[in-house]
Amino acid sequence: MTRGPIDDVIVVGGGIIGLAIAREAACAGMRVRLLESGEIGREASSAAAGLLGPQLGADHPDPLLSLCLASRDLYPAFVREVAEESGIDPALLEEGTLVVARCGSDVEALDRQCAFQRSIGLSAERLRGEALRRLEPSVNEEWAEGLYLPRDRSVDSALLVRGLERAAERRGARLRRGARVARLVVESGRVVGVQARGDRVSAGAVVIAAGAWSEEIAGAGVPALPSHPVRGQIVCLGPAAVPGRPLYSHDFYLVPRRDGRVLAGSTMERAGFDRRVTASGIAALTAAALALVPALRDAPFHSAWAGLRPATEDDLPALGRAAAPGLLYACGHLRQGILLAPITARLILRLLRGDDPGYDLTPFDPRRFQEKSFRSADASGQISPAPAR
Ligand SMILES: Cc1cc2nc3c(=O)[nH]c(=O)nc-3n(C[C@H](O)[C@H](O)[C@H](O)COP(=O)(O)OP(=O)(O)OC[C@H]3O[C@@H](n4cnc5c(N)ncnc54)[C@H](O)[C@@H]3O)c2cc1C
Repeated sequence: MTRGPIDDVIVVGGGIIGLAIAREAACAGMRVRLLESGEIGREASSAAAGLLGPQLGADHPDPLLSLCLASRDLYPAFVREVAEESGIDPALLEEGTLVVARCGSDVEALDRQCAFQRSIGLSAERLRGEALRRLEPSVNEEWAEGLYLPRDRSVDSALLVRGLERAAERRGARLRRGARVARLVVESGRVVGVQARGDRVSAGAVVIAAGAWSEEIAGAGVPALPSHPVRGQIVCLGPAAVPGRPLYSHDFYLVPRRDGRVLAGSTMERAGFDRRVTASGIAALTAAALALVPALRDAPFHSAWAGLRPATEDDLPALGRAAAPGLLYACGHLRQGILLAPITARLILRLLRGDDPGYDLTPFDPRRFQEKSFRSADASGQISPAPAR
């Protein structure tokens, strides 16, 4: 930041990203206020399946893969600390992830992924027939080709979010529920605070972590970051004899929970801010689950839900400083927000302190949207509202 290290910060949004940043900043001795428009962690973050799977489908180098791998490395310590600070165990499952395929181009894709991942030093093991069945007997025999990724894990995201909420508060962050941020307060071009429920709240820096709603937040001369929601539905079955690890095929997955539930997900839909579960969503996910693990046929239906993933125009997160001093973004994590929470928190803290982030954030720079299509704000900071949530 232009004024040197910051010692107090406002975090807008109480999903996993805002909570992880609030906790990290509070641990570093900063004065932290997190403002959440509804209840903490009730949006995309607790809807997520909790896959920590940077290697899923990876067959070429790209900046998001590197960021995801770096965050995966931080996960065991992150989960341990949250559990110690909160008393809530986020149920990290360390049995690897199994990608399966049936035939043809899908099998070639597994070969390609395996070769690429090994070439960059990642663990990946091609399994076929009996070897696959020994690892995961529940998989339909027609899926006879597999790629085992021992370091891709999963976590119970709802538990992790509850743990983070408690940990952030115990570390000294102040969390305000029901405090919707209406706009940024800007003085002489610098963001100096926010307007929330009629109150002005001031701080040395503001971090926008408002998920799919980040595009609602602007200030005088400070345009909003273009973003949009991508709906994801999940069907939850069980208790049942669940697979021992997450199973993944194409864009479909089954993720087991410790209590015997199994999550079947997920859809990718542009449905605006509508987070209703649909008949076609339930039908498609249930059919895919039964095709992959036929024994689930007798599992009881448990529940179904949907959440709104936050997406930017190029599907990459927006991480780092805005053009206006005093403002940072941590949003647009789309399908990887649970996985990316620890690295996001670490990088944002370094930027708040005025340190070198120690990571090339160029591909994720929020200013990349600036020339193109940042929505314009008038002098009062008003922008046209997004559809109702
Ligand atoms: C079905 C589904 C499955 C998924 N599976 C995975 C997975 O397996 N692995 C993975 O890594 N990721 C997964 N994701 C993606 C992941 O859930 C998201 O990327 C992540 O939760 C985004 O976190 P967030 O904190 O940015 O957003 P959110 O959790 O949506 O939190 C944003 C918060 O900001 C608040 N807010 C909004 N506007 C304002 C305002 N004006 N003032 C104050 N507060 C405001 C909202 O109320 C909300 O609580 C999945 C998502 C879905 C929907």
